[in-house]
Amino acid sequence: MESLLKRLNGLPFGLMGNKHIIRIPSIVVVGQEVLDNLIEIIDSLSIRKVLLTVGKFTRKLAGEYVKNLLERKGIKTKMIEVLEPSLQNAMKGIKLYDKYNFDAVIGVGGGKNLDVGKVIAKETKSLFISVPTTASHDGIASPFASLRERRGRHSLQTIPPIAVIADIDIISKAPKRFFRAGIGDVIANINAVQDWLLAHRVKGEYYGEYAANLARMSAEHLIKNEHILSRYDLEAFRTLVEALISSGIAMGIAGSSRPGSGAEHLFSHALDRIAIHPALHGEQCALGTIMMLYYRGDERWMEIKEFLEYIGMPTKARELGISNDEVIKALTIAHKIRPERYTILGSNGMSFDDAYRIAKETGVID
Ligand SMILES: [Zn+2]
Repeated sequence: MESLLKRLNGLPFGLMGNKHIIRIPSIVVVGQEVLDNLIEIIDSLSIRKVLLTVGKFTRKLAGEYVKNLLERKGIKTKMIEVLEPSLQNAMKGIKLYDKYNFDAVIGVGGGKNLDVGKVIAKETKSLFISVPTTASHDGIASPFASLRERRGRHSLQTIPPIAVIADIDIISKAPKRFFRAGIGDVIANINAVQDWLLAHRVKGEYYGEYAANLARMSAEHLIKNEHILSRYDLEAFRTLVEALISSGIAMGIAGSSRPGSGAEHLFSHALDRIAIHPALHGEQCALGTIMMLYYRGDERWMEIKEFLEYIGMPTKARELGISNDEVIKALTIAHKIRPERYTILGSNGMSFDDAYRIAKETGVID
């Protein structure tokens, strides 16, 4: 018989007419050596069969450990390796459900394993448990997955994880670049919430002030604790992971990625499409945040830039291997990426002259 929780998991959420259904994680565990907590959580949710989504590297890093942990407790466990964040990869797991009927999907990894895991969980109405191995983006606790398409990526509403187990020992072993990218993804909220309010005023889109404030607070929390972040120690990782989780929860409350994704994200998605060597999502969003704040006349662009430099984040495109031309091109096409997402770029986008001037005056290009 289908468990009660599983049925609950099939419920839609977000804004439906005058009804607003919020779904956020129930259990969040952040700390050192916390992977073993999975057993208690699995037990409390009456989970008997599990599908693990791992990557080549995260299989060794934590996947095998989790598999052994569960099997020792008599939980049937299957593991699939995710090659790329695509629907085809998610189909592998969805097909497995017919034979194997798992109760929960546990995503172990950085971006793609969590994204694909969320899609499988949604389609099979299973529970999703997030076990992040990097702190590079705010998808750790959000109900959204980013999948790759023929041209770039697109964001998909899935389900929020019922539990997030963030092991700081594991997360802190990831390259420094991932840590900084995570900071960039949260800092993006400062621009994203302004785009959201703008869309509300211009297009009448739903705007949730509480969710917007929570998203903004997640970013302010990082700025306030820049001295901790610059130390790059366990406390720094913990501070970032908490901000990423609260940022993801803001999206669960909003029922959309609006609190964490505005024009700066459109710029990053545009770069993913056109750059020869795109940088990490959060690194690109950080550049986008500086430029979009400047474009909308928000004087905080300078403060954000100084903050990013203080924590060692590149604020020049070429430091990330992105050319000046690619920056300008991405700025001018960003509004076409998701036309329904109204931002400071408006319906017509940014002119070439504006793009050049803004990139130059903010120092993103030389
Ligand atoms: Zn993002």
